[in-house]
Amino acid sequence: MDQAELHRIEARCIQEEPPRCRAACPLHVDAREFCTLLAAGRIDAAWAVLCRTLPLPGILARICDAPCRAACLRSQCGGGIDMAALERFCATSARKTPPLHPLPSRGKNAAIIGCGLPALAAAWDLARKGFAVRIHCRAMADIPASAYLEDCPTDIVERELERLRTLGVTFVEDAEPAPKLVEALLAATDAVFVDPRACPAEALGIPAPDPTTLETTRPGLFAAPSPAPGTSPAALAALGRKAALSIERLMQGASLTAGREREAPFASRLYTNISDVAPLAPVPVPPTGYDDTSAREEARRCLRCECMECVRHCAYLEHFKGYPKTYARQIYNNASIVMGTRQANTLINSCMLCGLCEELCPEHFPMVALCLDARRDMVQRGKMPPSAHEFALRDMTFANGESCAVAKLQPGTTTNRWVFFPGCQLPASAPDAVERTYAHLRETLPGGTALLLRCCGAPAHWSGRQDLFAASVDALRADWEALGTPTLVTACPTCAQMLREHLPEANTASLWAVLGQYGMPPSPAVPAGPLCLHDPCTTRHDDALRAQVRTLCAALGITPTEPSLSGRLTECCGFGGLLADANAPLAATVAARRAEKLDGTGLTYCAMCRDLLAQAGKPCLHLLDLLFPADDTPPTPRPAPGISKRRENRVRLRERLMDTLWREANAPRPEHESLAIAYTPAAKEIMEKRRILESDVARTLFAAKRDGHILARAGSPRRLATHRPSTVTYWVEFECDAAGGYVVHNAWSHRMRVSGVES
Ligand code: SF4
Ligand code: SF4
Ligand code: SF4
Repeated sequence: MDQAELHRIEARCIQEEPPRCRAACPLHVDAREFCTLLAAGRIDAAWAVLCRTLPLPGILARICDAPCRAACLRSQCGGGIDMAALERFCATSARKTPPLHPLPSRGKNAAIIGCGLPALAAAWDLARKGFAVRIHCRAMADIPASAYLEDCPTDIVERELERLRTLGVTFVEDAEPAPKLVEALLAATDAVFVDPRACPAEALGIPAPDPTTLETTRPGLFAAPSPAPGTSPAALAALGRKAALSIERLMQGASLTAGREREAPFASRLYTNISDVAPLAPVPVPPTGYDDTSAREEARRCLRCECMECVRHCAYLEHFKGYPKTYARQIYNNASIVMGTRQANTLINSCMLCGLCEELCPEHFPMVALCLDARRDMVQRGKMPPSAHEFALRDMTFANGESCAVAKLQPGTTTNRWVFFPGCQLPASAPDAVERTYAHLRETLPGGTALLLRCCGAPAHWSGRQDLFAASVDALRADWEALGTPTLVTACPTCAQMLREHLPEANTASLWAVLGQYGMPPSPAVPAGPLCLHDPCTTRHDDALRAQVRTLCAALGITPTEPSLSGRLTECCGFGGLLADANAPLAATVAARRAEKLDGTGLTYCAMCRDLLAQAGKPCLHLLDLLFPADDTPPTPRPAPGISKRRENRVRLRERLMDTLWREANAPRPEHESLAIAYTPAAKEIMEKRRILESDVARTLFAAKRDGHILARAGSPRRLATHRPSTVTYWVEFECDAAGGYVVHNAWSHRMRVSGVES
C-alpha cells in the first residue's frame, strides 16, 4: 500500500467527520464537546470550548440564534439541542474566562470600516494573529445597533470591546464609509475590510467579490455584498472571520482559496445510527434561562454523534481501542518499518476476516482486505513471525497427510456423480456423524458418492500464505479430477466459500440442499428445548445456503429463534481469520460474547462454530447432531474436543472407513503411540492453552527414552525430557508410574535455539 492508497482507504472511514451541529455552525463550534462537558457539570471547561472558537464569545454566546439546531441529529428524535440557551447559560455562569494569547506583532496593519459583527469579528481574529487593527466607525454609540447587541447587557458589550482594545484594536469615530475613505485607508494600510453592514460592496461600486475570499478587484480591499435580512449573528461573525483569514493569507503570500471548502456551513458525512434512540423532548427554557440542573439535563440529550457502527459490534475492533481509520494508518506504518518493533502485527493477525464491519459500515470500509493484504505482504517479505499461524498450518498439513486424507470412489463403483466433502473440521469434531452422513448419501444419491477427506485450504488463505494455499487448492483439484470431477457436496460453509471462489470450475452443492432434495435421514432427533440458530460468518453472503438450512429446520419441525445479529449480519465465533492462533484470549472473548447472544441451546452448521461456542460454555448442537444422532434419543450438546482429540478423531475416522468400507489395511501406528501416558488435569489445560499436542508429548518422551536423555532432579520423582522434532523444541515434565507408564505434569515449547548446545 502506498501513501495515496492509504489516503484513499482512510477517507472511507467517516468516524472523524464533524457532527452535524459543528458542520452547520457558521463558526464550527464543537457543540458535541461543549454538551459533553456541560452534561458533566464542567461549566468552565464548556465555556473554554466556546472561547476557543467564537470571536467575542461573551457577545456571540448570548445572541446566537443557533442555526446549528435544525441540523442537530437530535431533531429527528425529540428536538434539536437548544444550543442558544445552553450557550447563554454557560456565558452567564462560567467563573473563569481563558486569557487571550495574541501572536507577536507581524508588523502589518489592517483597517476595518464599520462596526457590525463582521467588523468586530474580523478585528478580533486579526488582532489575535498579531495584526495592528483600526476600526473606523461613525460613532461608538452605533455599535449596539450595528452588531445586534441591543439585547446584550451593556456591561457585557463594554467588557468585550475592552478585550478588543486589550488586543490592540483601536477605534476611530469620525469616518464616513465612502469611496474616498477606502482610498485613503488603502494608501495607508496593508489591507482594508469593509463591513457590509456599514457599506455593502455594491455601494462602493465594487463588483460582488468572490464569496470564498471576499477579495475585490482592488488589491488589498476586502468587502462583501449586503447580507440577507435575518442572517444569523454567527453567520455575520463568520463573514468577518473569512475576511481576516483572506487578509492573513494575502500578507503571507499564500493561496487565498486553497483548503477553504469547509469554511462555510456544510453537510457532514458523519453517520450516526439512531435506530435505538428513544425520542426525548427539549428541556423547556424558563424566562430567566437555564439553571445548573436544567442546563445539564438539556446537554445530556446530546447524542454525542459518532459513527463507530463497526466497533460497536466487533470485539476485535473494540479491543485495539481505535477504529478502522486509525488502524489503516497503524497497518501502513507497520509495513513501512525498516528497523524496530512492528507494533501492529497482533492487530493485523487478530482480524477474523469475517466482514461484519464492512457490512455494517455505511462506507463499506474494506477492513478484511486491509488485514489480509497486510498478512500476505508481510509473509511474502519474510516480515511476519512464523509463530503467528504455525499451529493452524501444521494442523492443515496433518489433515492433508496420509493418516487423515481420503479420496475414494464409493466402494463397488467405477464412476461417481457426487463426492462428499465434509472438510477437515467436521471429521475432527464429529467423526461419527460424518460416517453416518456418508452412509446415508451412498444410499440416497443417484449415481454413486465418493468421499474426499482433506482441508479446503482456508488456514493457508487466512494466514496470507498464498504459496501454501495455491498448493493446497492444486492438490484438492487433482483429487477431485482423479475422482472424475463429481459434484462436491459440502457440509462446511467455509469449504463452500473456498471452493466457490477458488475452484470455480467444480459443481458444488450444500449437504443441506442435497438432503432436502434427495431425502432426509430416516430417524432424525430433535431436542425438546428452545434452539437458537447461529449462522457462521462464512455464510454472510450466501443467502441460498442460509435459506437451505432454514428449510431443513422446518422439515425437522423446528423453528429456531435467531439472535439480534444473524443472516448477513451474523457474528464470527472467533475461529475466522485464525484469531485463536494469533490472539487466544481475544478469541475466547469473541466466542463468549457470541454465546451470550444465543438464547437456549445453540444450533449451527459449522463444526468450528459449534466447538468454540461449546468451549465458551454454551450448550450447542451441530445440525448433523439432529439429522444423524447416535441413537434415537434426542441429542445432547457434547463438550468441545480438545486439540489432541480433534486429531485423533480424524485419524480414527479414516482408519475405520478404510477398514470397513474399502477393506484396505491401515498403516501401522507410529512407535510413540505405544507409550502409556496419563496427563494431570493441569497438564491438559496447559497443553491446550499452549497448543501442545499429546502426540508432541509422546514423541518427546519416546525420544528421551530411546536416547536416554532425561534430566532428573535429586530428591524429586519428577523428570524432564526435551525434543526438537522440527523448528519447535518441546519440554515435558513427567514422572514414571509403577506400571512403566508416564504421568505428565507440565509441558512447554519454544522456537529458540540455544547456541552452542547440541540436541
Ligand atoms: S449556537 Fe450558534 S455559535 Fe453556538 S454552535 Fe450553534 S450556530 Fe454555532
Ligand atoms: S445530538 Fe449533539 S453531537 Fe449530535 S448533532 Fe446534536 S448537538 Fe451535535
Ligand atoms: S462503520 Fe467503522 S469503518 Fe465505517 S465509517 Fe463507521 S467507524 Fe469508520
